[in-house]
Amino acid sequence: MTDNDCPPLPPTRMRHRGDKINAHGRVSALCFPKPRAIDMKRATWVMSDDATTCPKCRALIDARSKTPNVELSGAKRPLE
Ligand SMILES: [Zn+2]
Repeated sequence: MTDNDCPPLPPTRMRHRGDKINAHGRVSALCFPKPRAIDMKRATWVMSDDATTCPKCRALIDARSKTPNVELSGAKRPLE
């Protein structure tokens, strides 16, 4: 096991929730009104709701988790 493949992300970069991936492997964020590649110099993305730091993505995640017809189970509710 080595950590070299996966260095820790700088804490200053915004972490969007990854949404769509295009043919080039570029990832769009959940909070973007139109899909476009995230600028990886300024921000990054994660596939984990809990690791998302972007407030807009988080708001969308929260809104989605309140909708009954989603795949997310009730076990993933945020701590209050
Ligand atoms: Zn975002």
